[in-house]
Amino acid sequence: MKKTVKDVEWRGKRALVRCDFNVPLKEGKISDDTRIRAAMPTVNYLVEQGAKVVLMSHLGRPEGEPKPEYSLKPVADRLAELLGAPVKFIPSPTVVDDEVRAAAAELKEGEVMLLENLRYRKEETKNGADYAKELASLGDVFVNDAFGTAHRAHASTAGCADYIPCVSGFLIEKEVKFLGQAVEDPERPFVAIMGGSKVGDKIKVIENLLKKVDVLMIGGGMAYTFFKSQGYEIGKSILDEPNIDLAAELLQKAEEMGVKLMLPVDTVCAKEFNNDAESATYFVDEIPEDMMGLDIGPETVKAYKAVLETAKTVVWNGPMGVFEMPKFAEGTKAIAEILAGIDAVTVIGGGDSAAAVEQFGFADKMTHISTGGGASLEFLEGKVLPGIAVIEDK
Ligand code: ADP
Ligand code: MG
Repeated sequence: MKKTVKDVEWRGKRALVRCDFNVPLKEGKISDDTRIRAAMPTVNYLVEQGAKVVLMSHLGRPEGEPKPEYSLKPVADRLAELLGAPVKFIPSPTVVDDEVRAAAAELKEGEVMLLENLRYRKEETKNGADYAKELASLGDVFVNDAFGTAHRAHASTAGCADYIPCVSGFLIEKEVKFLGQAVEDPERPFVAIMGGSKVGDKIKVIENLLKKVDVLMIGGGMAYTFFKSQGYEIGKSILDEPNIDLAAELLQKAEEMGVKLMLPVDTVCAKEFNNDAESATYFVDEIPEDMMGLDIGPETVKAYKAVLETAKTVVWNGPMGVFEMPKFAEGTKAIAEILAGIDAVTVIGGGDSAAAVEQFGFADKMTHISTGGGASLEFLEGKVLPGIAVIEDK
């Protein structure tokens, strides 16, 4: 078990908190503040406990230089609104300087400040020791709550922990709890659903999950590489050519390991990659030469549903089809609806799968939707994430 903010006696101590405030901006305005709102439980808790709170984050890719269009000022303003209290913000081009140090030293219990964009300095993504030390000097305890960057060893995600003790915030605690439990100690039957565009992107996840799951269901673009490896013609469907043999190996491996690997039985095909293209549903051994598969079909949904209804833990990564186009969103929507209705721990990992579940309105019916696309993939691959490794054990 990892230490969390609850394991620290905060009154009078300075909390240096790595948040994920990497929000979308349109013309200098925040177009979606989900990530800021997601950070509030940790920030509010620290404020209530009487900590002096120093928040930090990156925003976009200023590539190691101070660029005003990437300033965190709009985030400071939004934070102040959500807190109902002022948030001190010093737009320092070097992130840390004498004025920032003085402000951090003068903070009173329950007061909050936000540092400028961490990536104004090149040393951030290089995990520069001096920069990490400068940041760490602003706090007594380092709180990592940015899951989205936990798979990167940066100065603010891992480096700081070389100088001050590190605990997790509530967001990382939740990610570790649900992703960790699903992968390490799942209630069975444990089903993984894998989709997305390419097998190549997900090979390591599939290999790792094969060791853990009872059933592995495949959908999305990667299914066609599996069909090809079985000798089916797939028309103009997306093919991950270099990984055809690997798909065959994975099928073989699943069989040897006694894992039931399910492939789609039917697929919605279209003449073009286009929502208005002529489309029809075919069994997977009859995909026409001039068409491409863009979604799983209704027979597949039926077969997957029967198995999912018996599951006790489900991890889902990668959409079942091109859900961005309404015509090819039905398979992904149906799977989301099934997961919303079953009595199981349901964990969604992956940026696009999470977006799909939100878009179809099933987000609040899932046990956990991971906030870190890349980080959750690496977690599912069984990797140790640097930003989590630095958190002290209880
Ligand atoms: P995640 O972000 O959840 O890990 P990926 O990024 O791997 O998922 O894949 C998502 C993308 O896969 C989506 O943009 C979707 O349109 C695409 N996709 C799904 N099915 C197909 C398909 N049959 N053909 C082409 N692209 C597909
Ligand atoms: Mg994606």
